[in-house]
Amino acid sequence: MPFRDVVGHRALTALLREAVTRGTLPPTLLLAGPAGVGKWRVAGAVAEALNCQAPAADGDACGECRACDRIQRDVHVDVLRLTADESGGIKVDVVRDALERCGFRPFEGARRVVLIRDAEGLLEAAQNALLKSLEEPPPATVFVLTSAAPDALLRTVRSRTMRLTFGRLPPADIATVLTRDHDVAAGEAQRLAMLADGSPGAALTLATSTLNESREGAIALLGAAGAGDLAARLAVAKSVVGEKKDERTRQELQAVMRAASALVRDVAALHAGADHRVLANGDVPEVVAALARRLPAPAARKAFATLDRALTALERNAGTKVVTEWVASEL
Ligand SMILES: [Zn+2]
Repeated sequence: MPFRDVVGHRALTALLREAVTRGTLPPTLLLAGPAGVGKWRVAGAVAEALNCQAPAADGDACGECRACDRIQRDVHVDVLRLTADESGGIKVDVVRDALERCGFRPFEGARRVVLIRDAEGLLEAAQNALLKSLEEPPPATVFVLTSAAPDALLRTVRSRTMRLTFGRLPPADIATVLTRDHDVAAGEAQRLAMLADGSPGAALTLATSTLNESREGAIALLGAAGAGDLAARLAVAKSVVGEKKDERTRQELQAVMRAASALVRDVAALHAGADHRVLANGDVPEVVAALARRLPAPAARKAFATLDRALTALERNAGTKVVTEWVASEL
């Protein structure tokens, strides 16, 4: 996929495209940033731009020539993709094999490109095997590593790569990726986008069933806002956390809190006069309307802040039960 089709990350892709055009691209790149935001796609775009037979004036790949096509289908002999095997790691043999091929001039392309996905999975021996090549890349060879945990790489590897840091994507961009590239229906894409914490990859892993379950939990939790005394609110919290044997996990509770945030955001939007069609939960307008009656604008704002603090606490490993009870009592 050429740079122009990458959703988001405009500044980074412009920088890379310009460097390719000027021939100033560093031979070792480390694309760092959250999982699922598009780093691997950008790595592929670098390989295409370097080998395209009919590049655009701005240096971007055409996306259609023989080289682009072969890179997209992962059959271009000069573009090597190294990914984790079923053990979750990348072994030294795989790296040695790739480096051996770098000893020869590119066969069909202009540049040989070695793409390493989730590079933190490179076993230590594999990283050590890479070191010399990162320091003095073979002629006409470019290494592009991607990682969501770059600090797990050996310091020596990090210091030999030029790091570019990717951020999270806004929900609108996530929805675009889901509808354009993954055939997700627009309404569902919008809901997933709100819950995905800036990552299209994370959005894709949230199955619809999980989504509905999280939202049911969220609706139950927000029910605490109408519950009278503390005991009633704690009962709500208990029902959301679940019985001992069947307790929601930390991730599941985070999904519930995010779903609740999305609902509260919709409530605030309704108070501000927004149309149902722009809501993340526009598929259940009656639920949002009922919540809006229970949560006037100031209460919705406070609820949003409460949920935000709860999510931070959950991320920092605070007890799931304690956090949920706190939310139920604050709403
Ligand atoms: Zn091309």
